[in-house]
Amino acid sequence: MKVKAAVMRELNKPLSIEDVDVAEPGPDEVLVKTKACGVCHSDLHTVHGGIAAPLPTVLGHEPAGVVLKVGERVRNVAEGDHVIACTSMFCGACPQCVQGHPHLCSDRGACRRPEGAAPRLSRGGELIHPYADLGGFAEAMLLHSRAVVKIPKDIPFDVAALVGCAVTTGVGAALNTAQVTPGSSVAVFGAGGVGISVIQGARIAGARQIIAVDLADNKLANALKFGATDTINPANVDAVKTIKKMSGGGVDFAFEVVGLPKLLEQAFYSLAPRGTAVLVGAIAAGQTVSLIPGHFFLEKRIMGCMMGSNRFTVDAPRYLELYRQGRLDLDAMVTRHAPVDDVDEAFRAMEAGEVTRTVLTFD
Ligand SMILES: [Zn+2]
Ligand SMILES: [Zn+2]
Repeated sequence: MKVKAAVMRELNKPLSIEDVDVAEPGPDEVLVKTKACGVCHSDLHTVHGGIAAPLPTVLGHEPAGVVLKVGERVRNVAEGDHVIACTSMFCGACPQCVQGHPHLCSDRGACRRPEGAAPRLSRGGELIHPYADLGGFAEAMLLHSRAVVKIPKDIPFDVAALVGCAVTTGVGAALNTAQVTPGSSVAVFGAGGVGISVIQGARIAGARQIIAVDLADNKLANALKFGATDTINPANVDAVKTIKKMSGGGVDFAFEVVGLPKLLEQAFYSLAPRGTAVLVGAIAAGQTVSLIPGHFFLEKRIMGCMMGSNRFTVDAPRYLELYRQGRLDLDAMVTRHAPVDDVDEAFRAMEAGEVTRTVLTFD
């Protein structure tokens, strides 16, 4: 089928709105009519070259939609099902998958079409890559069945889409990766879509204190609505000193959600003894972090986080149930809706810090 898509052909250029060809599903594949797709910072990092991706590519990796057709071996979803797609597709057989860490799957190639097979996406015979093995900025997506999870039909597509990346990453960073404990203190550096999700995850975990750190006062005011108990704008004060003072000596958990080496260092220095710093943001290749080793004597830890250490086929339905109960606020995270043709405006609004999320919607 032919569908409209936003294609990235060159770095630092507006996306090109084109008709692309989507192939018929193979035995393990699912054809999904896209209903909504969030615009994430990683899409923009890719446009700017901070994340490498083969070109041309259909960007977008935070989608939700309706299953149009499934291959003969697909059992987890059926035609008409509502689904979220997540980039953490998994082979199910490698050591990481078998040990319960499918987000770190070492053989995701098993979920791609074999080398030399007809491409999932193309245009006039030219191969087009689905970004993150998804390609959500298009009217339809052809996906591996282990990249999708069925969701209840009463959940609106725009909020469901957020669970494909931002919410899974941020809430998962708090609940799965760091395992924030009840009564603990938490600092979150960065209050965009993922930062807000970390704040909500910490709140759900029962943290007593959640300190949001951001340079934008509008984002800090927003963070308070999602569960932050305190805010710091480091334009005015020293973030580390202020966190230490507010928390009575340091926080138990600190999250870096921006992707800047300096902020990871600050997150680490903000910790109480035995505290854990988690790097959620994507620090650009070639940059390094330097830490004063003496802090490790206080048994402080630093750890990475890949997509919220998710098992999205289990996590996503849980997060949506928390949403339904009013314990995870997804409605307020959707700041704007836009058609796919306006994706560049969505990037601009994100860079300007005007939105938590723009969600592209499709008829
Ligand atoms: Zn993302
Ligand atoms: Zn695997």
